[in-house]
Amino acid sequence: MPIHEKSLIRPENLVEHEELVIDGIDVSGHWSTFIEGRSVCDYNENLQDEIEAMAGGEYISRCWQCGSCTNACTVNAINPDFNPRYWIYLIRLGMEEELVRDKDIIWQCVSCNKCTYACPREVNPEGVMKATAHWLELKGHTEKKPSMVFDEAFSEQVFETGKIEDGLVLRQFFSRTGQKLTQPWLVALVGGLIKRFPVFYLMRLGLSTVLRPRTSGWGRARAAINEYVEEREAANRKALGLDGKGAE
Ligand code: SF4
Ligand code: SF4
Repeated sequence: MPIHEKSLIRPENLVEHEELVIDGIDVSGHWSTFIEGRSVCDYNENLQDEIEAMAGGEYISRCWQCGSCTNACTVNAINPDFNPRYWIYLIRLGMEEELVRDKDIIWQCVSCNKCTYACPREVNPEGVMKATAHWLELKGHTEKKPSMVFDEAFSEQVFETGKIEDGLVLRQFFSRTGQKLTQPWLVALVGGLIKRFPVFYLMRLGLSTVLRPRTSGWGRARAAINEYVEEREAANRKALGLDGKGAE
């Protein structure tokens, strides 16, 4: 498993002597750089199995570490620390502590699926990112992140009505994350819509967020989906050894 684009050496483990002379030769500063010894003895041998048991993580063992996912990744282009290949590497080795160090970045995946199309091994890296974010939450390493709140608002609406009303999803997301609806970008977006879209379309859009239209005969589908979600959640908790500890 080669590491090409990320060093496993932590910057805080690099040490230099400000003044050091060895056999009459001055090796002060970066000439005397050495790496402090570090023993890793807390491997989670079940880590890959745990991620594999979660929705999206099923094919992680296929990964051959080519790095195509990271190379294609939308978020990595902005933040080089966002590195799906590296996290898959850590999961496969069972390096839970290293993985948890990036807990505040992993959830930032925007589900664009560019990695999924780039992956030659059909690992579904986007699914692995989602599974890992969910795993971090279930294990108590992170609180619920905004992307999870958005996913919940989105899913709840689909489960309830069989339809998606973008305006309602946004309203619920802002309300649940304590943000004002008057975000400058949202105001600009609405202003643009008002200028460009026909009035009857905008009225329909506004009414939909209030009346919440439903797909006809959705009741049976909703019951089946809810049953499936409950089964998945129970299976996730069992795989992570969280049975009997109570849901968060
Ligand atoms: S789905 Fe997530 S991990 Fe994959 S390319 Fe998009 S942002 Fe990156
Ligand atoms: S593209 Fe696929 S095989 Fe390559 S590192 Fe990413 S997940 Fe692994």
